[in-house]
Amino acid sequence: MHVAVIGSGYVGLVAGACLAETGNDVICVDKDEEKIARLRRNEIPIYEPGLEPMVRRNQEEGRLTFTTDLGAAVRASRVVLIAVGTPPGEDGSADLQHVLGVAREIGRHLDGHKVVVTKSTVPVGTAEKVRAAVRSETDQPFAVCSNPEFLKEGAAIEDFMKPDRVVIGVDDEEAKSVMGELYGPFTRQGGNRVLFMDIASAEVTKYAANAMLATRISFMNQMARFCELVGADVNNVRLGIGSDQRIGRAFLYPGPGYGGSCFPKDVKALIHTAEEMGLSLAVLKSVEAVNEEQKRVVLHKTSRYLGDDLGGKIVGIWGLAFKAETDDMRESPTIPLIEGLLAAGARVQAHDPKATDSARAIFGDRVMYAADPYSAAHGADALLIMTEWLVYRNPDFERVRKLLRRPLLIDGRNLYDPERMAAIGFEYHGIGRGGR
Ligand code: NAD
Repeated sequence: MHVAVIGSGYVGLVAGACLAETGNDVICVDKDEEKIARLRRNEIPIYEPGLEPMVRRNQEEGRLTFTTDLGAAVRASRVVLIAVGTPPGEDGSADLQHVLGVAREIGRHLDGHKVVVTKSTVPVGTAEKVRAAVRSETDQPFAVCSNPEFLKEGAAIEDFMKPDRVVIGVDDEEAKSVMGELYGPFTRQGGNRVLFMDIASAEVTKYAANAMLATRISFMNQMARFCELVGADVNNVRLGIGSDQRIGRAFLYPGPGYGGSCFPKDVKALIHTAEEMGLSLAVLKSVEAVNEEQKRVVLHKTSRYLGDDLGGKIVGIWGLAFKAETDDMRESPTIPLIEGLLAAGARVQAHDPKATDSARAIFGDRVMYAADPYSAAHGADALLIMTEWLVYRNPDFERVRKLLRRPLLIDGRNLYDPERMAAIGFEYHGIGRGGR
């Protein structure tokens, strides 16, 4: 099938590559000329495991092309996926200007029946706005679908190729059959993985999923705060509740607060949409408030042990990205942490296996970027763990302790065993690990 993907970022590029991988002819479009030029040379602008070889292979075999010419891509395609960004507006609502701008442009180039699909995360009612935007530019027939994306950065290829489910909101039989054909190869394991539903439900499903996951994180972060007060270890509590099948093990890890390009903005946008309808989503407002507090927890712990005035202190940080296996710094909890440390006078030396360039775009030269984890610990008064990269799981702890000026280890990801750390000679503080 001929497919156009508009927007070649984390979602568009992964979707385009995976759709080409299953034999479709895919044209990925972006308005960023430099990005397109790099992609044509197989230079992937983001870090995503497995993406580079897939882009290279499909480009070489002629199924995947990159262009800035949206019109040509639309004319060549049966299905057009919109995967541009929907950043938060000032009031917390999703900013739809890119999605609707693209929809109008698609309308201008329609030359026969096409299926126009919103893959970007958009509030309920957006598909109707997309329909109106396309219609305002054309008399050609077309259908709209909502096909929210559930991939996780860091495991995006795996998630797209073997999805837990594919949600398709559709109100047109032909579009339903086209979308079924497009996703057939990814759902061959069966088990009704393609969930067709009405468009509004598909749009709500995406927000409900992210809101539920954010809720689990804020819930566990609050349990961690409670555990610290009563001398319990949240890690034991996590194992204790996760083995209940009604709860499940996934997404029960307390940490330095959720970040990334999705949870913060999607929780905000859902609260905003509900507010417009006169409904206050009290649970989600609390989820958001707890997360805002949680993003300050590692900074507070640092001040508790090093003092409020960090002048002359050196703080080492392991991990900058909002989670492991990505270079994405959007809404990373390390941003407020580092800003707080710098404001209190500390010198910051940080390591991340992949996110140094993204971090440099935010902090410039105000932070020293270490080439390896040990250099970040060298001479530091404290070492803070912010991202759960595998390389931090089992370092040479003796070496780390000797490199530190003070063996203060504040573990925002609970990667280590408190008893073992104490035995090695660290002053070890995790999140919610009041007891043993
Ligand atoms: P991104 O910022 O990485 O990519 C968006 C791309 O769209 C950019 O390359 C930008 O240049 C391009 N673009 C913007 N306007 C354009 C236009 N008019 N014409 C052509 N290209 C244009 O964003 P992303 O992380 O891929 O997210 C895209 C959407 O998918 C968002 O709605 C997001 O909420 C959703 N989503 C993201 C993830 C994720 O993990 N990143 C997961 C699921 C859903």
